[in-house]
Amino acid sequence: MALQPPGAGDPARHNLDPHLTRYAARTEGMTASEIRALFAVASRPEVVSLAGGMPNLAALPLDSLAKQVQELIAEDGLVALQYGSAHGVPQLREQICEVMALEGIKAHPDDVVVTVGSQMGLDMITRLFCDPGDTVIAEGPSYVGALGSFSAYQARVVHVAMDDDGLVPELLEEALTSVASQGRPAKLLYTIPNFHNPAGVTLSNERRSRIVEICRKHGVLIVEDNPYGLLGFDGQTYPALRSLDPDNVVYLGSFSKTFASGLRVGWVLAPHAIREKLVLAAESATLCPPTLNQLIVSRYLATHDWKGQIKKFRESYRERRDAILTALKQHMPPGCTWTMPDGGFYVWVTVPEGIDTKAMLPRAVTARVAYASGTGFYSDGLGSRQMRLSYCYPTPERIKEGVRRLAAVLESEMDLLRTFGTVQRRPVSGPQTPGPDTA
Ligand code: PMP
Repeated sequence: MALQPPGAGDPARHNLDPHLTRYAARTEGMTASEIRALFAVASRPEVVSLAGGMPNLAALPLDSLAKQVQELIAEDGLVALQYGSAHGVPQLREQICEVMALEGIKAHPDDVVVTVGSQMGLDMITRLFCDPGDTVIAEGPSYVGALGSFSAYQARVVHVAMDDDGLVPELLEEALTSVASQGRPAKLLYTIPNFHNPAGVTLSNERRSRIVEICRKHGVLIVEDNPYGLLGFDGQTYPALRSLDPDNVVYLGSFSKTFASGLRVGWVLAPHAIREKLVLAAESATLCPPTLNQLIVSRYLATHDWKGQIKKFRESYRERRDAILTALKQHMPPGCTWTMPDGGFYVWVTVPEGIDTKAMLPRAVTARVAYASGTGFYSDGLGSRQMRLSYCYPTPERIKEGVRRLAAVLESEMDLLRTFGTVQRRPVSGPQTPGPDTA
């Protein structure tokens, strides 16, 4: 049977978009994330946004970076401004191996493929491994950009719960067995072991080897997404899953959180056998990653105290984490709980039964605070009692004010709930305009 283009039989949708009958069936899974829809409203100056995950770049040494970029173009401009290889600049790939060594990874530069942010790595891996209908196992909740890639390739996501020590191995094993019993074993485990987005938890050392063993036993390839691993507030690092089973883990790395997100430089470290296909996938997506940006990163790593810079980032995020945890403790109504991140950007909050964080969001924005409601981080409708608060960007004072406002909104929802047994809603125009996704 021929696949119907999405929405082909719906005249209302056709009036909105005359190209509707032309789209490929796979576009059905492509919808704007909730965070993207929120961005335009949340970025108004009067709103304290605890919604987006924009890194705080204020600590970067802009003057010396400017000088270096100028020198780079003056000295090496004909290379920097030219096409390069799809594989990435060789010197940068060597430096990336040094960065990964901090988390116990021994890698050869040949097995590193430079990407346009780790988001491109996610897209390529899904493209290489997932046919429509294939299953990806992911933590519940999971990174919204990854869920977007999986749905764009029509993969089905099965979520596995976490606790304070990250993904629960017993539940992973159960999910893998159950998916396999339906006749089509899962293809990938997608996991963010360190300072999880959005949950803020970290996989314990003890569980790492168990997760690796379980996936090997079930023949499932692990995709380890690790953009926050060097942002532990005490400088602590954890052994990468990749270091425990190099042949069964594809590792995604990024300079977005440890240097500059706008340069869009990330990488994939794949098992050697996959490398060739990855380079071909990268070539068909972008021909090559931007040479100038790669050379900027490479020079930065060679000439700046980049570890000292990461320490500065960590200190600024730790100050913000302290501000949010103090404010949550001080202001949140009884019945709310939250995770205690010791690195990264996010706190995951659970609100009392009866409150729906997505429905509450327009009221919160009216009260000049924004957050990301939990359902966007699940592909199966869960998360309505959860929200993600990002403390990475606002100042500690703004964070405290934002939490105070949020707590007041929650108090009033809970009052309604106590009085009427339901939360009555005033219609408030919700955030609609799509903007850049800073998930
Ligand atoms: N993975 C996770 C878990 C993230 O949080 C992000 C960005 N927020 C990305 C991947 C994408 O990062 P980038 O493309 O900037 O490297």
